[in-house]
Amino acid sequence: MDVKENLSRIEQEIQTACTRSGRDRSEIHIIAVTKYVTADRALEAIDAGIRHIGENRLEGALEKWEACAGQASLHFVGSLQTRKVKDIVDKYDYFHSLDRLSLAREFQKRSPENHVVPCMVQVNASGEDSKAGIAPEELPDFIEELKNYPAVQVAGLMTMAPFDENSEKTRPVFRKLRELRSDVQKQQAPHAPCPHLSMGMSNDFAVAVEEGATFVRIGTDLVGNRK
Ligand SMILES: *Cc1c(COP(=O)(O)O)cnc(C)c1O
Repeated sequence: MDVKENLSRIEQEIQTACTRSGRDRSEIHIIAVTKYVTADRALEAIDAGIRHIGENRLEGALEKWEACAGQASLHFVGSLQTRKVKDIVDKYDYFHSLDRLSLAREFQKRSPENHVVPCMVQVNASGEDSKAGIAPEELPDFIEELKNYPAVQVAGLMTMAPFDENSEKTRPVFRKLRELRSDVQKQQAPHAPCPHLSMGMSNDFAVAVEEGATFVRIGTDLVGNRK
């Protein structure tokens, strides 16, 4: 499928979700997750009007980001091994999966002087054992600790909801993340303004938008996957 057609279908769903929840469309940014596809396909997405490109692995990301540089904001959305930080830390605009202090420490150590990495803290909002992320009850302390790493700015929270055919079932997970963001905002920490919620993928982005997503991360439904 043509990215333009996919995007117009997604756009309609987002509009409908905005109407249902009384949100302003301008608050929501679509990240095209291009991990399954080539740089050409990423450029096609940019042609269609996409302004955010996401990758979840270092391999493949750098080449595609090079092709897209200057035309889109670049997002790292996957888990990153600490020892790989040095290869990538100044290459993207947002990091979506900050889930441990060792990573923050490495960002601090490897960032060029005065470079600040806007990060989403990944939260295990569903509480499933298999999911990565900080446990909700540990979030306040984790945020507090991050003040020791000025290269890290807490730009938001991110979660991966368990896959369910019925996306409605994921609603409590997204709602939980929104509540956690309010708690973080109440901490009023200068390093953690936390305006963003990165949540919602192909299967469940409409529900995520209704619950407050500011970044939806869409791969399969937008640019396709190689299956
Ligand atoms: C792959 C991926 C996505 C996109 O998933 P789709 O179901 O293909 O839309 C979103 N977020 C993360 C972290 C991913 O790894």
